[in-house]
Amino acid sequence: MSGSKRTVDAVIVGAGFAGLYQLYRFRELGLTACVFETAPDIGGTWYWNRYPGARCDVESMSYSYSFSPELEQEWTWTEKYPPQPEILRYLNHVADRFELRKDITFSTKVTGAAWDDGTKRWTVTTSGGETVTAQYVVMATGSLSVPKDPEVPGIERFQGKTYRTADWPHEGVNFTGLRVGVIGTGSSGIQTIPIVAGQAADTTVFQRTPNFTLPAGNRPLTDAEIADRKANYREWREAQRRSGFGVPVPLADKSAFEVTEEERNATYQAAWDQGALMPILTAYTDSITTKAANDTAAEFVRGKIREIVEDPEIAEKLCPTTHPIGIKRPCLDTDYYATFNKDNVHLVDLRKTPLAEFTDKGIRTTEREYEFDAIILATGFDAITGALTAIDIRGRDGVRLTDKWSDGPRSYLGLAVAGFPNLFTITGPLSPSVLSNMVVSIEQHVDFVTHAVTYLRDHGYAALDANIQAQDAWVAHVDEVAHYTLYPTADTYYNGANVPGKPRVFLAYAGGVGTYREHCEQVAAKAYEGFDLI
Ligand code: FAD
Repeated sequence: MSGSKRTVDAVIVGAGFAGLYQLYRFRELGLTACVFETAPDIGGTWYWNRYPGARCDVESMSYSYSFSPELEQEWTWTEKYPPQPEILRYLNHVADRFELRKDITFSTKVTGAAWDDGTKRWTVTTSGGETVTAQYVVMATGSLSVPKDPEVPGIERFQGKTYRTADWPHEGVNFTGLRVGVIGTGSSGIQTIPIVAGQAADTTVFQRTPNFTLPAGNRPLTDAEIADRKANYREWREAQRRSGFGVPVPLADKSAFEVTEEERNATYQAAWDQGALMPILTAYTDSITTKAANDTAAEFVRGKIREIVEDPEIAEKLCPTTHPIGIKRPCLDTDYYATFNKDNVHLVDLRKTPLAEFTDKGIRTTEREYEFDAIILATGFDAITGALTAIDIRGRDGVRLTDKWSDGPRSYLGLAVAGFPNLFTITGPLSPSVLSNMVVSIEQHVDFVTHAVTYLRDHGYAALDANIQAQDAWVAHVDEVAHYTLYPTADTYYNGANVPGKPRVFLAYAGGVGTYREHCEQVAAKAYEGFDLI
């Protein structure tokens, strides 16, 4: 394809949940669309993250497309929480069923996109040397698709094997008999550590920030559960769309302090036993808005850690104290805390003895050197903006997106950026994105884009561009909503704190997917209010 030129109606970047659905919807409209994907195959997150224990924290029958009732009926999930291979099989089934592959160019990165105000088209360039002009560009590049390495030097010096959870070998890894170091105790670390520790001769976990995690209680789905959901998918999907996080939960009607401590703990115990994230985080009206209310849930979980972990010193190291519960990405696990009761599992507290460097034999902290046969990096992502700022995107007058966002991302609805006409960002910064069941958010964004494009065509417009006042108002609104909650109080990837030098801006809309959807619906109903139609 090197040097080749093409013209299409739309370029879609990324072939995960978002890119696949956008391609399906554009085809339905009769648009010519092509997809570029860095990976050699479809799946996005679920293509790359194949580490042992990789699993979704949203229940399988909620973490799936709703656009095709036939698809819902013919696909049968097997477990309460779907493991990575099953999600990948599902996405492959979707790609085959709707014949999506023929418009996808794999192993090809989009490197640049430039808008021409004269022709009102984008010119997209790829790592394969191809140039494509298109009226619309949809960035379906993912919120957690740019992995981040540790901030200390020398990884290339290490003579053993290095594995990244976010780019795991397809053939799998056998850690039997090996000394393994794992850096990172976010969701990926928490999922993989118990499994790796079950194989390895010796496992050392390097923890910077202890995380709250609840038992997943994963299990096979029963025939009755599957039949019931299949019979009621429509009502369930509607409830998902109108919910806070894309997962329907009963609405709290009391403050944590309107009940006794006993009642509170009974509620938290029921949530703990249920094996789900939402019940504990949404138990009370003030659970994520008031520190004192949040503390009651946080202390309940810390009590569980102290109960499970036999060595009191290790238990204290594992107890999160620097952020409220649910405010840094909370996790679900299988036997995470109990893993630290094993004699051959060790915990290094990087707050006390920070990482200094990698050596040829392993890892040196400020205290000592640790020797390993293999090191696993579960060190997170340059979240939400990373994949967008990695592309050389130039809007009107050649202005670079990275310059526009040098103090943090600004967007209208998390979907569009003023000065970048017809460029859409699926689950982009300042939309609910990572604060939601992302399949719900993805479908809503793709539907919004599809309707907007239909509107432009039907009304004879070439483009739409967010206007700066509407964008400023949205940025202010997102910030105001975030500050109504405890989210901005912690150092998390939600506000860029995990990436040195990244501007500190709360990157997601915390008002809930239902409220957000209503907002978008009103914008569309008012002839795309806040957008200039060109
Ligand atoms: P992705 O799946 O990230 O796909 C984006 C694709 O774009 C990638 O394949 C990437 O290679 C490609 N791409 C990026 N830039 C370029 C470029 N310049 N050129 C070409 N291709 C490019 N969400 C939940 O709702 N619940 C969960 O429990 C949950 N668990 C998760 C666990 C892990 C380990 C991770 C990493 C994420 C998890 N997520 C979860 C978030 C998950 O990313 C989304 O749910 C969903 O898969 C996102 O789909 P997407 O298509 O938007 O992006």
